[in-house]
Amino acid sequence: MTSPAAARPPAPPTTPGASAPAAPSAAPAAQPRPTSLGHGLLVMGDLWNLLLVRSLLTGGPARFLDLKAALGISDPVLSRRLRDLAADGVIAGEEYTASPPRLEYRLTGTGADLWPVYVALHVWDRRWAPASPLRLHAALRHAKCGRRTDPVFGCGACGAIGLSARDTAAEVDTSIPFASANPRRRYHRSASAAGAAGDPSASTGTGAGAAAAASAGAAAGTASAAVLADRTSTSLLAAAFLGNHRFGDFQALLHDTAPQTLTARLGLLTEQAILAKTPLREGGRRHGYRLTPKGHDFFPTFAFLIAWSGRRFQDDGRPGVAIVHRACGQPLVPRWTCNACNEPLDGAEFTADA
Ligand SMILES: [Zn+2]
Ligand SMILES: [Zn+2]
Repeated sequence: MTSPAAARPPAPPTTPGASAPAAPSAAPAAQPRPTSLGHGLLVMGDLWNLLLVRSLLTGGPARFLDLKAALGISDPVLSRRLRDLAADGVIAGEEYTASPPRLEYRLTGTGADLWPVYVALHVWDRRWAPASPLRLHAALRHAKCGRRTDPVFGCGACGAIGLSARDTAAEVDTSIPFASANPRRRYHRSASAAGAAGDPSASTGTGAGAAAAASAGAAAGTASAAVLADRTSTSLLAAAFLGNHRFGDFQALLHDTAPQTLTARLGLLTEQAILAKTPLREGGRRHGYRLTPKGHDFFPTFAFLIAWSGRRFQDDGRPGVAIVHRACGQPLVPRWTCNACNEPLDGAEFTADA
């Protein structure tokens, strides 16, 4: 397996704001490198990448034509996603026939290590989108105890279970502008790439791209993936978890995103009832955006995504954010626990019921 860091393209240039302290770096004029969270968002804040990894994680289609048929994705978009996921060390292709050369894809250790993120999405979907007609919300079975499980989120550092975002505090690494955790969009809109089964994350300033992604995600039966459909939405949600709620704060943090794109994504997240528009002050006329209970329930997804990014992309830079479990005072070690036997889940030990 290639090292993800070695396979990465150079860090996208960023423009630190006037108030942002210079990033400590050996090279004086060096751009801040993406934080590991930024790298993780770059890889997984994308509907197609989410669906591709899910297919490999759940024993679904693994070959190009099968993936194409299952996801309704165009050739150029699928090729690009597979190439990038391989470059990031998430998947690897193995030739299953030499002429013509055809690849079958599997998850690397880095990709397989995403399983808790998918449990988080699964738990969210079961709670907030239970009526999916596609029956993709089959119960999980804990192989160790043999029983159906509704995994419970907790802190592996102290063993507490049943945690939510409110039980934690996030510490942002202010020595690195958050913008470097919001890497420049990798998938640019392109008329050739965005065909009928086009690229939902090829976003437009009007939010049409994100809306298309939302409907593609809904069609795939994963409401959660529809919410995390593109990097702007995913980064906005991450920023909301870090305690931001004013438009100006979002704008400062995601400074390479056009204001009309931010407005469109905030509108979409509000429509999806993930964020709610609320007055900044009681009786005031100015509004901010706060996480609804439905939005708050994405906390485990972000906690596991941050942990995964830190484990897998740490050598790309600094984590960018640390989450502390208030009650034990230690860095949160996100963990799923089986509610049937009270044992922690590990990736090899659960299967989805048909
Ligand atoms: Zn704890
Ligand atoms: Zn169990």
